[in-house]
Amino acid sequence: MEKILEIAELGHPILREMAAQVKNLEDEEIQNFIDNLIATAIEANGVGLAAPQVYESKRIFIISSRPNERYPNAPEMEPTAIINPDILSFSKEKEKDWEGCLSIPGIRGLVPRHKSIRVKYLTRDGKEIESEFSDFIARIFQHELDHLNGIVFLDRMESSLEIITEKEYQRLISKAMEEMDLENEG
Ligand code: ZN
Repeated sequence: MEKILEIAELGHPILREMAAQVKNLEDEEIQNFIDNLIATAIEANGVGLAAPQVYESKRIFIISSRPNERYPNAPEMEPTAIINPDILSFSKEKEKDWEGCLSIPGIRGLVPRHKSIRVKYLTRDGKEIESEFSDFIARIFQHELDHLNGIVFLDRMESSLEIITEKEYQRLISKAMEEMDLENEG
């Protein structure tokens, strides 16, 4: 049975630490931890969750992109554990979009990220994967990898004028969706 883990919030020093490489991936303890991390990401409506966010300084994160009330436009993707990740190369082109973080509740910020990235990582079965991600998934990957290096999205922002509250963000996206509906209607 999976356990829902407590989420560390900004100000806790674990969010500022460099997380350690995972070596004993086949251990039951690590595998159970990955199950709990996935269950916690889903429960919290997160599109990603990194181990340091649940007080474990390990190089593991989950990508669990799917549309929900926090991210209505998110693409659908099976919850995937990413272990010991690295970015091999990235597009020069960057794009700014809204990000939030379960460790920084109540606010959103416009964050520039590389539009596409080439990455490598281990799956939870220890398989080495090389893959390319773009747009929203590339954004999640960069956000979560930052957590493994003690970086939060606020550190990547260009201006504090681009921070808004969750309430204002919800208003912004519902307005944008209404406009999209109007366009679709003709
Ligand atoms: Zn985060």
